[in-house]
Amino acid sequence: MVNMKLTERGFIQVDEQCKTSVQSIYAIGDIVEGLALAHKASYEGKIAAEVIAGLDSSVSYKTIPAVVFSDPEIASVGLNETEAKKLGYTVSIGKFPYAANGRALSLNAGDGFVKIIGDSATGTILGGQIVGPEASNLIGEIGLAIEKGHKLQDIAHMIHAHPSLGEIIIEAGRRSTWARDSPIESIENLRLLLLARMTKFHMADDDCRRVQML
Ligand SMILES: Cc1cc2nc3c(=O)[nH]c(=O)nc-3n(C[C@H](O)[C@H](O)[C@H](O)COP(=O)(O)OP(=O)(O)OC[C@H]3O[C@@H](n4cnc5c(N)ncnc54)[C@H](O)[C@@H]3O)c2cc1C
Repeated sequence: MVNMKLTERGFIQVDEQCKTSVQSIYAIGDIVEGLALAHKASYEGKIAAEVIAGLDSSVSYKTIPAVVFSDPEIASVGLNETEAKKLGYTVSIGKFPYAANGRALSLNAGDGFVKIIGDSATGTILGGQIVGPEASNLIGEIGLAIEKGHKLQDIAHMIHAHPSLGEIIIEAGRRSTWARDSPIESIENLRLLLLARMTKFHMADDDCRRVQML
């Protein structure tokens, strides 16, 4: 009989390398703490195999997506707004509706939204939630952005084919307060910069002051 340490909730206790309290025994999947999801289990299996092969791998759960395959689909990755605020972040939210996307309308699927959560201090993407058709596929792009430490303006600078559902993600990024503070991502700032370049005349005092601040 192997005497393995269990967690308070009765799962097998493992460290970040999937090692149990018994040397040479590893545990992954539903039998350890965390979300009971197939892709979480296979991810842990890969990490365990790497560790057994001598690599210094360890698990990181910050980009594991969770999907409800309902109609419409619901997908989430990383932190949601409430979780981010609880962790002390001042959040910057970018949100865009399916209803304003051409591809969604051509699919007769205008219900839903993409919401991206960022750290307003740095612009770093913390999480995202999508409700709508193909949410299970679209969420991967936000997961990759989190994994790579990308910022809201990186999402805003992406180019997706038109018309496609991916454009909703770009638009959500562009509507975050962080991107709005960046000169080229704000339509209003862009208008002022163009105005300043085209004519030094006829600008209202307030516009002149704002251009100087950009
Ligand atoms: C109905 C249902 C729907 C689901 N849908 C989804 C989904 O859409 N997406 C998603 O991500 N996850 C889904 N899940 C969860 C997902 O299936 C699990 O998280 C995943 O299979 C866990 O993998 P695992 O390797 O830990 O366990 P398992 O896949 O359960 O594998 C454990 C294996 O161990 C074997 N076994 C058990 N006892 C013994 C023993 N004593 N000796 C030898 N072999 C043994 C079992 O036969 C089984 O083959 C679903 C689960 C259920 C039940």
